[in-house]
Amino acid sequence: METPEAILKIKNIEVKYHEVILVLKGVSIEVPKAGIVALLGANGAGKSTTLKAVSGLLKVEDGEVTDGGIEFEGQMIHHEHAAKIAKMGIVQVIEGRKVFEHLTVEENLKVGAHLRKTGSVKDKLELVYHYFPRLRQKRNETAGFVSGGEQQMTVVGRALMTEPKLVLLDEPSMGLAPMLIHEIFNIVTELNQEEKISILLVEQNAKLALNVAPYAYVMETGRIVMDDTAEKLSQNEDIKDFYLGLTDKGGRKSFREVKHYKRRKRWLG
Ligand code: ATP
Repeated sequence: METPEAILKIKNIEVKYHEVILVLKGVSIEVPKAGIVALLGANGAGKSTTLKAVSGLLKVEDGEVTDGGIEFEGQMIHHEHAAKIAKMGIVQVIEGRKVFEHLTVEENLKVGAHLRKTGSVKDKLELVYHYFPRLRQKRNETAGFVSGGEQQMTVVGRALMTEPKLVLLDEPSMGLAPMLIHEIFNIVTELNQEEKISILLVEQNAKLALNVAPYAYVMETGRIVMDDTAEKLSQNEDIKDFYLGLTDKGGRKSFREVKHYKRRKRWLG
């Protein structure tokens, strides 16, 4: 996708862990300013690694961008430290709802507040409670004891406290009931539309992702194998068959077709 007003440009990056394990093999992704882009793919494809390359968290795991580059608002950031990248306005919501379990919900939110550039902590809390009314109700409860959905809201809320320009959102739907997933995705859409926050969303659930993101990339074993508008991807036969569980063909496919599909299906899990 070529767009001049991209806030983030991942340009043909190669990523290695421990100097030898090659995980990303030339990945290019663009996120438009105030846009939502989804990154789809099966377990182990390299989606989280891509997000960590952007946020700088890769370095914590002895990973490194060994080729290509990452540009955020015109500045190359792939050699910067995570703290500097966070200050520039990029926040990663890591997979698996990592709350500080012994702190209250509100204390968890306040942890994100030191990175904000404007307004008081109180203003920022109000903003989070505006988007997540459930968190206002639960604000004095210990985060380790609220529901999974509320923990997920807490980590997204904590990210919002940092006044981000770009949120890297890793599998927000994981392990949550459909109603809650729906609620969280609605809020994510509102944050994008009303606060103009750009979002790079990693999801295994293609149906969800293609509902909120107008554009998506599909990753397989460290490479982007497809990228298109959500509309076109939703019509793609492979996506329909293996991701969305829909098919207009009905009948059995020929062996050759199945073999071909199987080869292409690896990223579909
Ligand atoms: P998932 O949905 O399971 O998180 P993913 O698409 O996000 O999958 P990654 O977590 O980025 O995939 O992993 C991509 C590959 O990199 C996997 O083969 C994984 O084993 C490897 N990998 C991830 N982290 C490390 C690490 N710290 N050291 C070595 N290899 C790693």
